[in-house]
Amino acid sequence: MEIGQRLKGIRQRIDQAACRSGRSPREITLVAVSKMADDREVRLAYELGVRDFGENRVQELVRKMRILPEARWHMIGRLQTNKVKDLVGRAYLIHSLDRWSLAKEIDYRAGQVGIKVPVLVQVNVSEEASKTGLALEEVRDFLMAIEDLPSIQVKGLMTMAALHSDAQASRPVFRKLAELRSTLLEDSFKNVQLDYLSMGMSQDFEVAIEEGANIVRIGSALFT
Ligand SMILES: *Cc1c(COP(=O)(O)O)cnc(C)c1O
Repeated sequence: MEIGQRLKGIRQRIDQAACRSGRSPREITLVAVSKMADDREVRLAYELGVRDFGENRVQELVRKMRILPEARWHMIGRLQTNKVKDLVGRAYLIHSLDRWSLAKEIDYRAGQVGIKVPVLVQVNVSEEASKTGLALEEVRDFLMAIEDLPSIQVKGLMTMAALHSDAQASRPVFRKLAELRSTLLEDSFKNVQLDYLSMGMSQDFEVAIEEGANIVRIGSALFT
């Protein structure tokens, strides 16, 4: 199957899941995760209408961004503090803010160039040792601390579910993150607007949308 056909199938499934959750498909952003894709495939996806791309390594993100600067490039992987300076002002959205030292570095670098950097806070809902991210119960205090970092703009929350053959197994994880967002929305925090829930990958994006995701990160279903 060609990328065009796969993209069409994915978009249909996104549309149907959005409708099932009572939302418009236009509210859902597809981030095409291109870490397994070559440059030709990335360009082809862009020509087919994909505007948002995700990479989990800074070096590869910066390289592909040079090839396709007109797209929006999302950083979705674990971010080393010493790579922050390469991303600030370039990445459209950093999905993987998972620790305080990283928040401070992003704020510092953003402040130096006089911009605000949009980020998502990564939450390790399932509390798997292999995954990074804050525990659910740590997020509120983290957002309160962010109030002192004027060059960071928290735009939402992100999580990764465990790899399962059964997509339904991810549902409780997605539901918990959506519930946390709703609870946090009852208060307001400076520098924080919880507009986005980035959750769902190739194996479970429909379940994620049913549970409230408005950003899905899809790699292998599109590019293999
Ligand atoms: C690779 C990756 C994805 C995409 O995974 P697929 O299963 O290929 O769709 C999504 N999010 C993150 C953080 C990733 O590293």
